[in-house]
Amino acid sequence: ETQRAGDLLFAHGFGTRRLCAGLLRRGEVVWQGQTVTDADQPLPVSGTWTVQGHEWPLALHPLVMLHKPAGFECSLKPRHWPSVLSLLPPALRQRGMQCVGRLDQDTTGLLLLTDDGQMLHRLTSPRWHVPKIYRVDTARDITPDQLARLQEGVVLADDPGPVAAQSALQTAPRQLCLTLTQGKYHQVKRMIAAVGNHVLGLHRERIGALDLPADLPPGQWRWLESAAPLLPA
Ligand code: URA
Repeated sequence: ETQRAGDLLFAHGFGTRRLCAGLLRRGEVVWQGQTVTDADQPLPVSGTWTVQGHEWPLALHPLVMLHKPAGFECSLKPRHWPSVLSLLPPALRQRGMQCVGRLDQDTTGLLLLTDDGQMLHRLTSPRWHVPKIYRVDTARDITPDQLARLQEGVVLADDPGPVAAQSALQTAPRQLCLTLTQGKYHQVKRMIAAVGNHVLGLHRERIGALDLPADLPPGQWRWLESAAPLLPA
């Protein structure tokens, strides 16, 4: 089965027909080693193309993982810092990618993005309870009492019930590994403040069964082949 190159790009969300024609005209679309410039050229409807230097596996979930660096906002309309979306190639931005949950401007680590509204809804629903693991650097030494209170639950301002960490493991005098199953606004920073300490550095290492790959440098992204590691066990 084949489809015209312009129609294929359009159907896969690379923007308006004009934007798709522009990608082709500028030689930014490569299929099996050949640059495709003619929007009318018939192409098979499966396989992998290269658009703007990145591979686009058509059949995969539209799910991307990003190693978020500090100094970027998880927002479509950032206020003070550039958007994390500026780290993605234009063709991916045109598809309307959005962050799956948010990390603060100064937080680093594993961030997911998708252009699939249903997937976004599912992965951010509080019902999933997918554990998220954070490495937290604190301003002062962490006490056994602080660790205990984080796991028993602390009351945050403007929040009805207490919130508890699923686990809190100390890894250095001023560092801990915190597992949360909720995603309240500034949750880690507010929980650490509530027990009398202060967050100096925050890094998300893992979501569900998905680790931030050690070979994915800050600012780089890659396709996620399946959403399975993000679903509850
Ligand atoms: N908790 C925070 O306080 N900040 C984040 O970025 C993520 C979790």
